[in-house]
Amino acid sequence: MTKPRVIYWFRTDLRLHDSPALKAALDLDPAVFWPIFTWDPHYVYRARGGLNRWQFLLDCQNDLSESITKLNPKSKLFVLREAPQTLFPKLFKAWGATHLVFEKDIDAYARERDRIVIQAAKDAGVEVIIRSGRTLWDSDQVVAKHGGKPTMSISQLQAAGSKVGTINRPIPAPGHFPDPGEMPVHFERGQPETNPDFNSERRTETDTAYSRIDGPNGDFAIETMEELGFPSATTTHRGGEIIALRMLNDILADKKCTATFEKPKTSPAQFEPQSTTFLSPFLHFGALSVREFYWRVQDVVKSFGKGASSPPESLTGQLLFRDMYFASQAALGPVFNQTAKNPYCRFIPWHLPSKRDPSTGLVTGEYHVDSEEAETWFRRWKWGMTGFPWIDALMRQLRTEGWIHHLGRHSVACFLTRGGCYVDWERGAEVFEEWLLDHEPACNAGNWQWLSCTAFFSQYFRCYSPISFGQKWDKQGNFIRRWVPELKDMDAKYIYEPWKAPLVDQKKAGVRVRGDGLTDVEMGTYPKPMFDFAQRRTACLAAMKTAYQVGLHGNDSQVLEGTWRDM
Ligand code: FAD
Repeated sequence: MTKPRVIYWFRTDLRLHDSPALKAALDLDPAVFWPIFTWDPHYVYRARGGLNRWQFLLDCQNDLSESITKLNPKSKLFVLREAPQTLFPKLFKAWGATHLVFEKDIDAYARERDRIVIQAAKDAGVEVIIRSGRTLWDSDQVVAKHGGKPTMSISQLQAAGSKVGTINRPIPAPGHFPDPGEMPVHFERGQPETNPDFNSERRTETDTAYSRIDGPNGDFAIETMEELGFPSATTTHRGGEIIALRMLNDILADKKCTATFEKPKTSPAQFEPQSTTFLSPFLHFGALSVREFYWRVQDVVKSFGKGASSPPESLTGQLLFRDMYFASQAALGPVFNQTAKNPYCRFIPWHLPSKRDPSTGLVTGEYHVDSEEAETWFRRWKWGMTGFPWIDALMRQLRTEGWIHHLGRHSVACFLTRGGCYVDWERGAEVFEEWLLDHEPACNAGNWQWLSCTAFFSQYFRCYSPISFGQKWDKQGNFIRRWVPELKDMDAKYIYEPWKAPLVDQKKAGVRVRGDGLTDVEMGTYPKPMFDFAQRRTACLAAMKTAYQVGLHGNDSQVLEGTWRDM
């Protein structure tokens, strides 16, 4: 019998350790083995991936490729520049593949993409092997054990998870990689024009990158920021499996800190280093296995004994939240990421609600602008020019570094939605989608729903103050001084409310508080607050109360028909 010719498709699993899919592929004892990454135009042109996340991806790819080459000098991560949907049918034939193996991805777009690839494999007589490895439990199995419904709490996840079974212990990294086979790519390439994902303004920036399937030098090299047509990233955070495992080791070396971790006690104002693990971007790209993280924590907690923290505050609890959102996304599909058609998401008549495609019910990426004022607030929030230094510092850290602490995310999300601007959570989620290194569609949508009190959480009367919440953690305002340099010399007494500083104190600090932060930005100024927070909080609370009383959800007919506007 001839030995298998296996294509291993790296996607959400840029690592060698604890990869059930990679193990399944190598267990086939392949004659030839192609570790590949396909460059998906959806992510280049359509999804809002910011420069920092691109850089992090490239770091992870380079690190993985070097690790593969250490196992077999003839091999590396081979990057092919074409959409998987059009590439694979040609690849199966040209390379004579017998198997395609990959890790399961339950994101809405990925499901649809994989359906097309799996059908192409079937048509070509190629066997497809898929293994779950991105979550603690297989999210589809969790959903099946939860009656097909989304898991809306950690206890629901734990109950369903325990029915799925014990979380598997991690498996070691492979000790060898078989040789790759020939890699002819002299077939006609898919035309970008036929792919709807290409109809984006980003197209011109990255067009040239699509000139050859095997890269500009014909060596399947990992793309560079220059090839993608992108300027340099601004983040100082670097990706890769080696860094991830080193960071995990360093964190776990402090047994007390690991075992007694309580999320609400970690400071959102702490930076360099931050107060939580910063492992989310590595989990996102699969450079760190979540089961490796989970089991290493369990071992520390067990050896620590009495006094360890427990879910939801503990480190284990944090990982359970991640699985909870993944299972919710798996249950609901594309509507999980929006209010429209989502039966689990409360409908709130925000100022800037999203528009839907009437035929699919999916959001179109456009918005009804019901309030010019709220549109301005949204822009000032996005660019860190609200005039509330705590919010501005967080948004600027997010834009520059691609990461902010969980409670910082709470602050800015609450402020944009139910606790200030009353802007649709989907608009905030889009900004996070663009700027976060760790952007995970399921976790992002789920957490935005939580913070906007549209799903998962309903205590809308509990609001974050953009002043006292930051002060609780950082009286001196060092976090603000780091990210809002205009205020670096402001007296601590006024650092959270600089508009209250008398002129003489503003002068002493070398800053004038004036302007709206958008149209008349001058050197040496910091904007006035864009509204009176106490007034906005009262208005938002009243509006939320009414919306809760009306009690509409995303799938209610009034919402779908838009008749709520007449109510
Ligand atoms: P740690 O506190 O060290 O936690 C360890 C790991 O647990 C994290 O790496 C993460 O994988 C997981 N985790 C922790 N909290 C959560 C949570 N609430 N939900 C899901 N997973 C969690 N997390 C993302 O991974 N991607 C996102 O796109 C994302 N968007 C968010 C949007 C909003 C509005 C909010 C409030 C939170 C969001 N989070 C998201 C969750 C959380 O803020 C980050 O996972 C966490 O801050 C990452 O930092 P860390 O690795 O130091 O976390």
